[in-house]
Amino acid sequence: MTFNDDARLDTSEVLGGSGGGGGGLRPGGMVIGGGGGILGIIVLLLYMFLGGGGTPGGDGGSVPGSGGVNPFDASQITGGGQNANTQLFAHCKTGADANRDDNCRIVGTVNSVQAFWREELPRYGKQWKPTKTVLYRGTTQSACGTASNQVGPFYCPLDKRIYMDSSFFDILTRQFGGSSGALAQMYVVAHEYGHALQDQLGLLNRAQQDPAGPESGGVRVELMADCLAGMWVQHAAQTKDSGGRTLLKEPSQEQIQDALAAAAAVGDDNIMKKTSGRVFPEKFTHGTSEQRQRWFMTGYRAQDINACNTFNAQP
Ligand SMILES: [Zn+2]
Repeated sequence: MTFNDDARLDTSEVLGGSGGGGGGLRPGGMVIGGGGGILGIIVLLLYMFLGGGGTPGGDGGSVPGSGGVNPFDASQITGGGQNANTQLFAHCKTGADANRDDNCRIVGTVNSVQAFWREELPRYGKQWKPTKTVLYRGTTQSACGTASNQVGPFYCPLDKRIYMDSSFFDILTRQFGGSSGALAQMYVVAHEYGHALQDQLGLLNRAQQDPAGPESGGVRVELMADCLAGMWVQHAAQTKDSGGRTLLKEPSQEQIQDALAAAAAVGDDNIMKKTSGRVFPEKFTHGTSEQRQRWFMTGYRAQDINACNTFNAQP
């Protein structure tokens, strides 16, 4: 989606991570994975790169199984020092900056998603609790363990923060170019904020109690986050900055199709097919491509947040 050039960005909602090398530990069990995790996004990249119909060949052959090594060259990822943090966002002032710069786009998306939930939740007698995103480069510490580009974006319920590696977004943009990469970034941000909302509503523990399987709590929690992301997309063009200016333009049909393509690519069945050639429903954690698209659209068309109650429906 496209920001209005004159909208003002609020960089206080996004923090720079500590950066630096080392780490690489996988966070503990409390972590709720991102939009399919880094592996999902890599598959997404391959999938889009190959035009959607091909089977991964060449580089694709080196795509590891779950928990494997990032097939992208890790040497591309530089660990920023402590001082790099302020530099990450100093130039993020307006919507025009968000349209041309990945970090500023994250700032603007965080602003819009939080503005939406701040307006929306009082309809249900709830108040949105402001939730910061840590946008880091390399690795950084979270209360859920070391965050790194090996892990992908996640929400940490222990410190109530979202962690995203900016190199992950560089990869998205470099591989996709243009609007598809931008939309994929925004979808990931909105999905993670869906997890923050679930935490505020006391729903996240259902994923931890019953993490895997086609009708598991884990899958239902993930599909709900997709639905909540769809709800934000529906209302994004009404969200305003602190000065009352509208942050975003209405999404185009093409942009909605891009979001659906991203949702499909990170479906468990698609990722399993691409990585192992087989589908194991008992290992599903995020839902199938069909489910992820369907729940995104359910949110996009929803009149009410209860439409996203995946615990009250066939997932
Ligand atoms: Zn998720």
